[in-house]
Amino acid sequence: MNLHEYQGKEILSTFGVNIQRGIVATTPDEAVEAAKKLNAETGTEWYVVKAQVHAGGRGKGGGVKLAKSLDEVREIAGNILGMQLVTPQTSKEGKTVHQVLIAEDVYYPGESETSEIYMSVLLDRQKGRNTIMYSTEGGMDIETVAEKTPELIFTEEIDPRTGLQGFQARKIAFNLGLSGKAFKEMVKFVTALYNAYDGIDASLFEINPVLKTSDDKILAVDSKVTLDDNGLFRHPDYAAMRDKREEDATEVEAGEAGLNFVKLDGNVGCMVNGAGLAMSTMDIIKMAGGNPANFLDVGGTADAARVEKAFRIILKDDNVKAILVNIFGGIVRCDRVAQGIVDAYKNIGDIGIPIIVRLQGTNAEEAKQIIDDSGLKVHSAIMLKEAADLVGELV
Ligand code: GDP
Ligand code: MN
Repeated sequence: MNLHEYQGKEILSTFGVNIQRGIVATTPDEAVEAAKKLNAETGTEWYVVKAQVHAGGRGKGGGVKLAKSLDEVREIAGNILGMQLVTPQTSKEGKTVHQVLIAEDVYYPGESETSEIYMSVLLDRQKGRNTIMYSTEGGMDIETVAEKTPELIFTEEIDPRTGLQGFQARKIAFNLGLSGKAFKEMVKFVTALYNAYDGIDASLFEINPVLKTSDDKILAVDSKVTLDDNGLFRHPDYAAMRDKREEDATEVEAGEAGLNFVKLDGNVGCMVNGAGLAMSTMDIIKMAGGNPANFLDVGGTADAARVEKAFRIILKDDNVKAILVNIFGGIVRCDRVAQGIVDAYKNIGDIGIPIIVRLQGTNAEEAKQIIDDSGLKVHSAIMLKEAADLVGELV
């Protein structure tokens, strides 16, 4: 689950991570109130108005703007709220901005220069360890840095038995070229950041930029926080931060029905039990000349109600020209699934596009019989090759 910048920063700050302070607003009036409050708390007279959407690159898309007065805060917030923000990470249509974060300006002039640092914490799956990635080249596209100057990206692996150790935090501050107060602040920052990552069951933190201010403070100016869905049950307060407006509506509906669904842009809908089989089914559809319209794992209990729900979800997509049902009857009996498909078909009415059903495993023959006897426009197959060729023909 992804969080908004402001939510991520709120959580980080409860772990003692220094952040650029801000208050979220949904109207220009609220934005001005937020700015006044920030002024009272921090003394800042300049503010940054930041669109809150689940996508990076907001600055490039015009979703992050500096305001040098309360009037400018009102005007900029008015412009950004409700806009369709297009960034390098959104679709062409962009994302609707429902909220803005009014933040204190932290790039003020002072004794020394400000500098933007990149820092992320993530799980390196190959090594099976949490890793801190960091670079002096913050503020810009890290993919470009990785491509052009990979030597400027450092990584620090964390041993799960000891957690982040003091010498590692100091090494990071040293590699970032910091000294004096900024060095000490960075050691504290990294330590708190790693504690937060570990404490909230995150799967990704990306803080770009981490800012060294002109008075040598270290602050998180941005936050991208992804929580591990499997750990969410331990954090009901974070689970409540979910913003469904940022997610694909069909995926949300499928999730609520307990179906594992990911929308894709092909023309063959698929309904499969088991994630591994679902992935190989997608490959097979491609090999037969089609393109999968979705990934859908109906899970172990493919009963009539779930099958019907799954059909309804797949059919929401107008691009779907055929549906391939590929079920392996291991725990679940094929004849029950077949009956479920027939019942679901009858409940939905004329589906209007060809359905190819391939049932293999326990009671596969009986299942094929049920489909063939149903009189419905459903093609049945036992061998996958047969099913795939049918998909190819029909699409
Ligand atoms: P992103 O574009 O979605 O990654 O959003 P960020 O939160 O990273 O902000 C984008 C850019 O806005 C940063 O890299 C900074 O250059 C700029 N920015 C953010 N906060 C401030 C601020 O307090 N003052 C000024 N002058 N610029 C800021
Ligand atoms: Mn950023």
